[in-house]
Amino acid sequence: MSIGVIDMEGLRLGIDLGGTTVKVGLVDEELEIVDKVIYRSRPLDEMAACAEFSDQLKAFVVEARYDPAEIEGIGVAIPGTVLGAEVELLPNIQLDLQLLLESLRDYFPNADLAYLNDANAGALAEAAFGAGVGYRNVLYVTIGTGIGAGVVIGGKVIAGAHGAAGEIGHVSVAKGGRRCSCGRRGCLEQYASARGIVRTFREVGANAPSVYESLDHQQDHLAHMLMPKHDADSLTVFRAYEEGDFRAVKAVDVFAKSLGFALGQVCTVLDPDVVLLGGGVAGSAHVYLSKVQQVFSESVIEPCRETEILPGRLGNSANMLGAAYYSMIQ
Ligand SMILES: [Zn+2]
Repeated sequence: MSIGVIDMEGLRLGIDLGGTTVKVGLVDEELEIVDKVIYRSRPLDEMAACAEFSDQLKAFVVEARYDPAEIEGIGVAIPGTVLGAEVELLPNIQLDLQLLLESLRDYFPNADLAYLNDANAGALAEAAFGAGVGYRNVLYVTIGTGIGAGVVIGGKVIAGAHGAAGEIGHVSVAKGGRRCSCGRRGCLEQYASARGIVRTFREVGANAPSVYESLDHQQDHLAHMLMPKHDADSLTVFRAYEEGDFRAVKAVDVFAKSLGFALGQVCTVLDPDVVLLGGGVAGSAHVYLSKVQQVFSESVIEPCRETEILPGRLGNSANMLGAAYYSMIQ
């Protein structure tokens, strides 16, 4: 399916509810973004807050010179598992989905409302009109602060019996390894998310203090520049890698080996046509992709060795676009 043949009746809103920001896109019938806005995340678990948010969306549509009554669909991408009407949210999100849907209905009376898991939204968008066009079965892995994934088989997102299909972030890559938020140990997310990369970088530095200090002395400016600014600042680590920083070389090595290994296990079971990478870390794919592909080829069953691993095409608009699209096809 290509962008030109999608038959969308009218304007839609895609809402990507994240832990720190809410991204909203107004899209036309060809899924082109007409306008978009980013809000800071806030609790949406009371009617007054939901109404205020819906009112803000209405103002955004009006500012873009459209009538809110023209909005035919609104899709919401949610950070949590979704199975039918059952939603289990991540702990850092305060949301009463039913209240939000009620208020959206008040402000956008002609819109079909839909919601789905955020990684599934991204997977759907990349598969339907992103880097997955031309492939039937797509495994989409989104790597940011954490790791999410979506599986699209023949154009349909697979939720699984418990809404947990594709949770590749919690595939075990290190027996007895780092403790994970899911209560287990050694999950991929602890090594191959933005947080995992920064953690390895810092651990390597802490375990080699003398080299680390001399680096600080001799190249004060460079060393300062190469310090991650927060727990999920993988961008600085990738920059340090390109400068040849030994901590970053190790962090990228651990990242690529963990990810390549986990993708190998998952593809041995799923055998998708292509693996697409999304999320913030995908923007640095040129740094690590060949290493990931190599470890993957060594880990996966022989017939799947040539399966391609590619960065997605829709960047951080994937979830928002997938949500808008889902409001049309659901
Ligand atoms: Zn886990």
